[in-house]
Amino acid sequence: MFLDEALVEFTSGTGGSGAVAFHREKHVPRGGPNGADGGRGGDIILVAERGCRTLFDFKLRGKFRADDGVHAVGNKRGKNGKDIILKVPVGTVVHDLVLNEVIADLTLHGMKVVIAKGGRGGFGNAHYVSSVRQVPNFAQKGAPGEVLPARLELKLLADVGLIGLPNAGKSTLLGRVSAAKPKVADYPFTTIVPNLGVARVANDTFVVADMPGLIEGASQGHGLGHQFLRHIERTKVLVHVVDIMPIDESDPLENFHLIEEELMQYNAEVAKRPRVVALSKIDVLPSGEFNAIRERFESLGLPLFPISAVTGQGIEPLMFEVYSLLQSAEEAEPIAVLLPAQERKMDDNWEVTAAEEGGYEIKGKRILRMAAMTDLGNRDAIRYLHRRLQRLGIITALEEMGAQEGDNVYIGDFVFSFSEW
Ligand code: GDP
Ligand code: MG
Repeated sequence: MFLDEALVEFTSGTGGSGAVAFHREKHVPRGGPNGADGGRGGDIILVAERGCRTLFDFKLRGKFRADDGVHAVGNKRGKNGKDIILKVPVGTVVHDLVLNEVIADLTLHGMKVVIAKGGRGGFGNAHYVSSVRQVPNFAQKGAPGEVLPARLELKLLADVGLIGLPNAGKSTLLGRVSAAKPKVADYPFTTIVPNLGVARVANDTFVVADMPGLIEGASQGHGLGHQFLRHIERTKVLVHVVDIMPIDESDPLENFHLIEEELMQYNAEVAKRPRVVALSKIDVLPSGEFNAIRERFESLGLPLFPISAVTGQGIEPLMFEVYSLLQSAEEAEPIAVLLPAQERKMDDNWEVTAAEEGGYEIKGKRILRMAAMTDLGNRDAIRYLHRRLQRLGIITALEEMGAQEGDNVYIGDFVFSFSEW
């Protein structure tokens, strides 16, 4: 399996802080609270794009950071931080390196996922008006952004398949057109695992698979791995490689039909793919014999390319034709629906444990975020946090564990003093 991968770190933006402000109007002695909210931090969004084929750009630049939201000023809401939208190839899988699990699998063109969500802007004091608190003089800090160390992984699936009898020269051709170093066998059978390589034409790249084994036993289903089937089914263009000077002195055109029939039996859909014929090993053909061979193959009505994978003769025009067929095949594909962004769920679970250093610890992603958004220099803001913990049942849980007035309560890096309030 040919894997393209990149280690990256995504950081979404932190939200801006809310403001503490009061209406100031002429002739009104003391207005109500109107502090605005901070702006939202920018998200990091991945979008699967058909035109994007490798993870190369992610390897060049490993860190991505979205802008922070802007703090509110008075009654003016802070601006949102700009999102970062990154194109990835269709088939990109994202592994969260902290959770050690797959968090996104972008299987279709147009699929979108918010991979790191920007922190919400903090609420301004206008939010905290209630019947018992008419003059809230605290605001909320913005929620922190997420830091996500991740591994992007792309299983390269073939765009172009090389078919042909064993010994036709498929592996040699693949080695010639791609960066892959396939094993070249001097005997008429090769491995059942497809050899993949990335070919480069006109500043674009595409994946070429040497498909040995498609014929030997494949139509009966022998030893075909799941990945191998995916490669065959994914190919959009086929290059049929024909040895025009087979050592067994078999007839090249008959060999051609043999493979085509077996492909038809194996999978009629795949057999319909556009294809070109590479008449291979012209370097060993005595001069003057080529025209007769060409005439016989012309009756097929397919584009013919005399090549030598050994000398390189004829490879360039062949690959240009393959590339332009590939482009037309992709344009003919239906445009996939743009799926709505999938958002990762916030972890609402919490847990209270006895802390090693004495006191208690409250664990939980959401709780941690609530603490981080609290302005710890403001007694009212702390009181508000306490009330929210109460509503979640955390204060009761602390009491049940025996928490006493003055005991330390840890939430991440924050320390609070337990109080009944
Ligand atoms: P495959 O079974 O289709 O993958 O064929 P290989 O690429 O392994 O090639 C089979 C044999 O043909 C090897 O000995 C190659 O060196 C040889 N071969 C492949 N292409 C050419 C070519 O263009 N010219 C010559 N002279 N030999 C070739
Ligand atoms: Mg081979």
